Amino acid sequence: MFNLVIFGPPGAGKGTQSAKIIDNYKLAHISTGDMFRMHISQNTALGQKVKQILADGLLVPDSITIEMLEEEVQRNPDATGFIFDGFPRTVPQAEALDTFLESKNEKIDLVLQLDVTESEIKNRIAERKKVSGRADDDEDKLIKRIDEYFTKTIHVLPYYQSQGKVVKINGIGEVEAIFGMICAAIDEAKS
Ligand code: ADP
Repeated sequence: MFNLVIFGPPGAGKGTQSAKIIDNYKLAHISTGDMFRMHISQNTALGQKVKQILADGLLVPDSITIEMLEEEVQRNPDATGFIFDGFPRTVPQAEALDTFLESKNEKIDLVLQLDVTESEIKNRIAERKKVSGRADDDEDKLIKRIDEYFTKTIHVLPYYQSQGKVVKINGIGEVEAIFGMICAAIDEAKS
């Protein structure tokens, strides 16, 4: 198996690059953000629980997120690897993921850090807002999400750096050029 975490602030391009990676490397894509939005649109019990949290741009509690993530991994027993997009977002989530994968004799092989400046993120999300219809792309909610990123999520980076797994990719530039750098990093980690 080859397991990858794609890491970066909101609007870094995680979703865009994940779509290209799964095409090329046949990994199963798990986006916790997409999963929450699916639960909300289907009005499930979980969706009702997290709806307001997402709308406010805050992080869903770890226990809920971890349980949902683990269930999704279990639902894909034939996957040759996973790309985790938007997870882990806190150190406890990263620890839980390591413990969970260990129990399956698996591990995270690579963490791709998409490096993008705060001003670029704000510009991109303002653009995305025009088409996404995402309530959390509103300026005040975006500020909240960026705040959550810099207070909670950023600590996931040193966690993986201490394991020697992080490769930093410049997330500003052409989508294809960024994808090229990502492929080089994946090929290197696989060899
Ligand atoms: P973005 O990367 O643009 O912020 P996502 O689609 O990854 O968007 O996430 C949208 C929202 O879903 C987050 O703001 C948060 O409320 C919730 N969410 C997604 N993943 C997690 C997670 N791992 N832990 C807690 N909350 C999460």
